[in-house]
Amino acid sequence: MRIDCPHCGSRDVQEFIYLRDAGPRRPDGMAATLAEMHVYLHERDNPAGRHRELWYHGSGCRAWLVVTRDTRTHAVFAVEALPASVESAST
Ligand SMILES: [Zn+2]
Repeated sequence: MRIDCPHCGSRDVQEFIYLRDAGPRRPDGMAATLAEMHVYLHERDNPAGRHRELWYHGSGCRAWLVVTRDTRTHAVFAVEALPASVESAST
């Protein structure tokens, strides 16, 4: 599988690290209930098909990316740079 990094161009997937589904957002630290944290940590979708995911280009530009790919075929449909404001809240 190859990922088209918006900063570095087309690179092998081995240069990237998968983090997680790009959808769920971490509940607000001290305000989160135990139930909200449980849902965030353990109740995830496992879709067969198109999926938005967070990837880190660790062996390249060290940017966080949102990769939209098909989990069955690994076809990559879109790669977007994660805005810095979202990046600090997501990691
Ligand atoms: Zn890159």
